Amino acid sequence: MFEKILIANRGEIALRIQRACRELGIKNVAVYSEADRDAKYVKLADESVCIGPPPSAKSYLHIPAIIAAAEVTDAEAIHPGYGFLSENADFAERVEQSGFVFIGPRPETIRLMGDKVSAKAAMQAAGVPVVPGSEGALPEDADECLRIARDIGYPVIIKAAGGGGGRGMRVVHTEAALLQAIQLTQAEAQAAFGNAAVYMEKFLANPRHIEFQVLADAHGNAVHLGERDCSLQRRHQKVLEEAPAPGLDAKLRNRLGERCAEACRRIGYRGAGTFEFLYEDGQFYFIEMNTRVQVEHPVTEMVTGVDIVQETIRIAAGEPLSIRQKDVQLRGHAIECRINAEDPRSFMPSPGRISLYHAPGGPGIRVDSHVYQNYYVPPYYDSMIGKVIAHGATRAQAIARMKIALTEMIVEGIKTNIPLHLELLNDAAFVDGGVSIHYLEKRLDKGKS
Ligand code: ADP
Repeated sequence: MFEKILIANRGEIALRIQRACRELGIKNVAVYSEADRDAKYVKLADESVCIGPPPSAKSYLHIPAIIAAAEVTDAEAIHPGYGFLSENADFAERVEQSGFVFIGPRPETIRLMGDKVSAKAAMQAAGVPVVPGSEGALPEDADECLRIARDIGYPVIIKAAGGGGGRGMRVVHTEAALLQAIQLTQAEAQAAFGNAAVYMEKFLANPRHIEFQVLADAHGNAVHLGERDCSLQRRHQKVLEEAPAPGLDAKLRNRLGERCAEACRRIGYRGAGTFEFLYEDGQFYFIEMNTRVQVEHPVTEMVTGVDIVQETIRIAAGEPLSIRQKDVQLRGHAIECRINAEDPRSFMPSPGRISLYHAPGGPGIRVDSHVYQNYYVPPYYDSMIGKVIAHGATRAQAIARMKIALTEMIVEGIKTNIPLHLELLNDAAFVDGGVSIHYLEKRLDKGKS
């Protein structure tokens, strides 16, 4: 096992990884930008290194500064968390070339899955069902694009091969709008991701977003930890997640989960990963794979009892998986609410000092957050200030516990989306379970008129 790990991230996930290191008896190194100097996990770290000024490009995304920090502290491995450099194959490569272990998949795997066109092809070859669409990237020929769209049937969605974070997508409802939409998406994709390739998919009208968590070791073992339903989204960003997906049949879960685990064995996957699917009319359609730990991993931890972050570290150290598929038993139901520093109506970010803070507690409640009273939420990064996770024997109990927790929680001095979560937890369609990915935005639109 490693003696020392450098955590190349900030915020709640830096704290989460730090806790995993502690439990495994591994020393941890925090890196921080000048804006995060006072963060509690920085003070609690065994060692800490300032890697630059507040803007991410000059700190959390600055590869030479992170490698140098690992060198001066004699860390053996680097955990990237999520976001920032976590899905950057060049970073993973640089880490390994510099003699450190990258806690995640091999750089080739990150590259394969980072290009959604190659990822989709690889999954299709591995027997995972995908959304009907163009075979690979769209050709230059306009007539050919029109033909592909006609074959798929409108509406279609144009997506950037290099896209991520809900960006680089455009829905097209009519043939008249197709060619211009392709051009616009290509131009945006070139500017945002440095890759103009786009592809086309059938736009599913009312799907749910259901994703499968997998763990795979370097010895060819892979297991799935069941699924999460992340359909409550705004601008393609997840707001509330739960496990298991309401109403999903155990047979279908096991069949699809096993397909995902088998795909991992085939491509020699290593680490934690997530297969994201759209689910409509009883059918699953693969959309992409995330080659890292995800924000919503705690709901899976709560229902399986598996510590996913510790597993990523053990796998990187070359240990075999500590669990077999038959050891994975789902227990009860878990819900996660992402708490963001933002206006609950306009969604404008609301950075600033937290003047009063009380975290909730009680049976089944877990709070993953780096903030505290008097903490200053910096304006430079993602607005998420933490996550509240509620576990219950049933979904109804998890909802009830979450409502109690969010009612108890006090965050003053900044605005948060807690009022929005409380509304959703009382929403009849949510309580029934199984709403589609468009549900939240439609509901928000209704609220405006
Ligand atoms: P990103 O990498 O930017 O998160 P994804 O491919 O995972 O992109 O898609 C993000 C979201 O966009 C999905 O969760 C879903 O809400 C929507 N979406 C993507 N593809 C389709 C599709 N074919 N039909 C309907 N909605 C889609």
